[in-house]
Amino acid sequence: MSDLTLSATLSNGVKMPYLGFGTFRIPPGDVTKNAVLEALKVGYRHIDTAKIYGNEQSVGEAIRESGINREEIFVTTKVWNTDQGYDSTLRAFDESLSKLGMDYVDLYLIHWPKDKNIETWKALEKLYKDGRVRAIGVSNFKIHHLEHLLQHAEIVPMVNQVECHPQFPQDDVLEYCKAHHIQLEAWGPLMQGQVFNKQVLIDLANKYNRTVAQIALRWQLQRGVVVIPKSTNPERIRENSQIFDFEISEEDMKVIATLKGERIGHDPDHITF
Ligand code: NAD
Repeated sequence: MSDLTLSATLSNGVKMPYLGFGTFRIPPGDVTKNAVLEALKVGYRHIDTAKIYGNEQSVGEAIRESGINREEIFVTTKVWNTDQGYDSTLRAFDESLSKLGMDYVDLYLIHWPKDKNIETWKALEKLYKDGRVRAIGVSNFKIHHLEHLLQHAEIVPMVNQVECHPQFPQDDVLEYCKAHHIQLEAWGPLMQGQVFNKQVLIDLANKYNRTVAQIALRWQLQRGVVVIPKSTNPERIRENSQIFDFEISEEDMKVIATLKGERIGHDPDHITF
């Protein structure tokens, strides 16, 4: 077992590798296939996709082509906003599964909080009880969304995937999630490419003889947060995985915490899509 399979244990005992591979904005077809194959070759065993990315089919093809046992790879996909609702979510799940060419996914997420969260969650609970997903969770949920969901949920979400990086550490959400045994997962852990000009991180990268990407990702691991960096460049895919053989000191973790600022993505309370 390599370090790349170091895993968080979700509230139901399922293991979720701390390092995953993101596929947002990677076009379907050979680009996605080659990127996922490269990630699997390097040792990633966790792939994050979504219906809206349009690349589920290519992700599935890459996984089959890799020759690695399906059970060794943790696969996440998400129900899109326009599919929210009970029956429509069940239908969307069948479509995702068929595109992936799989008979289960490891984690199914509500992509964004919307009015029909509760009905949608009931569908996810059914999929979970039917054994068609190994874990269920949410994405882009703020604390108030989680609180509302928990009032109606039979099963507490196992994961919350949110925008999270040194400039927007989501300390309050992290604390809330830890208290409720919800694993926090960071999307945009490299600030969608904007993390690289942060002087604090450049200084730490020099100090530890690492890259800015490695500092930003390692920082999350030490906070107990799952990361899913995206790249189609084989060297960067490898670079982003080399985060298990060094440690950021407690003092320097606090230095990174001084970076606090704004989110760069959509505010989940004000999305129009
Ligand atoms: P990211 O933070 O992973 O940044 C990706 C960008 O950084 C790309 O432009 C890439 O070329 C660049 N990059 C990657 N590694 C680098 C390196 N080592 N050196 C220099 N540049 C590097 O952003 P992301 O893709 O938005 O987020 C990661 C994943 O999170 C996505 O691919 C997707 O799977 C998921 N995601 C989920 C949501 C959601 O709403 N749930 C939203 C966005 C992303």
